[in-house]
Amino acid sequence: MVSTGMARKVDDLGRIVLPVEMRRMFGIHPGDELEIGVDGASILLRKIEARCVFCGAEAELRPYRHKQVCATCSQELLTGDAQNGFVDTPLGDLKL
Ligand SMILES: [Zn+2]
Repeated sequence: MVSTGMARKVDDLGRIVLPVEMRRMFGIHPGDELEIGVDGASILLRKIEARCVFCGAEAELRPYRHKQVCATCSQELLTGDAQNGFVDTPLGDLKL
């Protein structure tokens, strides 16, 4: 864990205020959900994305490697659908 040097007091209801710098850094806005985890003696917070990382859809989201992907994008990734910007190019044809 990297210490930020910032500290906050816990109030009577167990709440803390996340420093504005941290909220800006992680794009955390009022109403966003945070996953709360534990790693040894540390409490970890992770923003739960409420939109598909590819198209921004808010419905039928499925978690994949801590990111949200909608059902449509999941299906396109599985089938390699070229109509929506996913082009299945053999590695030998790539020009770098
Ligand atoms: Zn999507």
